[in-house]
Amino acid sequence: MKFNKTFLSVLGLFAGLSLYAQQEVSRPKLVVGVVVDQMRWDYLYRYQDRYSSGGFNRMLNEGFSNENTYIPYLPTYTAIGHSTIYTGSVPAIHGIAGNDFIIQATGKEMYCTQDDAVNGIGTTGKAGKMSPKNLLTSTVTDQLKLATNFRSKVFGVSLKDRGGILPAGHFADAAFWFEGESGNWISSSFYMNELPKWLQKFNDKKVAEKYLDKWNTLYPIETYVQSEKDGNPYRENYKGLTKSQFPYDLKALKKDNGLGLIRSTPFGNSLTKDIAIEIIDNENLGQNQAGVTDFLAVSFSSTDYVGHQFTPNTIEAEDTYLRLDKDLEELFNHLDKKVGKGNYLVFLTADHGGAHNPKYFQDKKGNAGYFPTGEVKKALNAKLKEEFKLDDIVRSLTNYQVHLNYQTIEQNKLDEEDIKDEIVKFMRKVDGVSFVADMDKIGEASIPAIIKERMINGYNKKRSGAINYILEPQWYGGKQNSGGTTHGTWGSYDAHIPFVLMGWGIKHGQNNNRVYMTDIAPTISALLHIEEPNGNIGQPVQEVINQK
Ligand SMILES: [Zn+2]
Repeated sequence: MKFNKTFLSVLGLFAGLSLYAQQEVSRPKLVVGVVVDQMRWDYLYRYQDRYSSGGFNRMLNEGFSNENTYIPYLPTYTAIGHSTIYTGSVPAIHGIAGNDFIIQATGKEMYCTQDDAVNGIGTTGKAGKMSPKNLLTSTVTDQLKLATNFRSKVFGVSLKDRGGILPAGHFADAAFWFEGESGNWISSSFYMNELPKWLQKFNDKKVAEKYLDKWNTLYPIETYVQSEKDGNPYRENYKGLTKSQFPYDLKALKKDNGLGLIRSTPFGNSLTKDIAIEIIDNENLGQNQAGVTDFLAVSFSSTDYVGHQFTPNTIEAEDTYLRLDKDLEELFNHLDKKVGKGNYLVFLTADHGGAHNPKYFQDKKGNAGYFPTGEVKKALNAKLKEEFKLDDIVRSLTNYQVHLNYQTIEQNKLDEEDIKDEIVKFMRKVDGVSFVADMDKIGEASIPAIIKERMINGYNKKRSGAINYILEPQWYGGKQNSGGTTHGTWGSYDAHIPFVLMGWGIKHGQNNNRVYMTDIAPTISALLHIEEPNGNIGQPVQEVINQK
């Protein structure tokens, strides 16, 4: 039988159309990545009885929780966490070696998202000179752009520049972040030439100013049984206060603290939720062609500011999580309405956890301590001067790494190996230090394998100090008996994070196997049927993928 050409091509067209219809790739309309800055894994349960059914508990009750998710590198800081979550990679490869790091070749300090070649948009200040330039690998958001021929829309947003920029990746439509001085949301010329009209309108509403009124507890203060009593001494005070106690008159505090004050209150998260909803609505996220997934990366940073200032066991921290829970509920309800329940995929995780205040821990009779970084550096340089007759051989103790002054070493033809041996010997004897390693010789160091691997993963030769030191559990760098807290170490309180997924393609369940932060990006990539980020070292979590 012979067919004419037209008949064949019509047949081909039908075949093509039906093929197209049958093989359309199955993807959610929208992915919402939620990073809660400084959220320890145990906060999912610590306050669970008071979470609503629509926020954290909705994620746990409807979604799938990886209960043993750990950070596989050191140090555990914000910029690294956001980079690793979205790249599946580690500082050794993705290059974000700290919030700040030191370019070893020049000794120049670099902020993670610093980019002097771009200009602020919506600001003339330095806060706008930011881009993802220092991030050396692609993100899962970049891969989504590549996979859909740039038809997917990608947005990143956070109070912190690094919390919005690094997750959004290099190909994002935009990242937005908050400028404390003006109270405005801004961006940079890396993304655009002017702020979208809807954002200009939002900024004109002065929402941050309106939130800064009064901070009282959401529930009667005596019901905050998970926290030390109000007014405990382990916190840092807001500027202008000598004692911290509810209720806080934020309107009055604004005078001394500026609009940036909102960061250190739960209302910074509410403001972030507001802007996330604005982006969803005004950029029509989740309304793309079938198979073309959009991506919104949201990072809630106020939990970190409040955590640093008030520490975990406080009413301020508890109230901040109870309020964030309500913000999440509102965000999820909005997504149900706009994108449709089951049409979007949410994952929630954290960039790191947080320690208890060392003085608090000591008062409870636990082992804890403050590592006097500045004094140790001074003593170390004095010791090196004795041996090598030169000042300032050590440039800095940053990110729990000893950074050498290579200019001095080279100009004076000193033996770098001798210097490093001397430093290792010295640092081993310092109070609070567990381990020290010359990173070129870490293979020989007698350090437990799990810590050693995290040191290697975190060590970027061009941007990290040549010698790493590990402190004892519940120790961190800080002034003796100082209030507040921080993070950065390998301990579970800093390195154990939530990783919960909900929505499209996710069935309810729980996984108790050990997974890592580096597994998040490949898991999302697998769910979306897109290539993994180009520096990825993680694995898709099988328990999540097999849910489908
Ligand atoms: Zn922090």
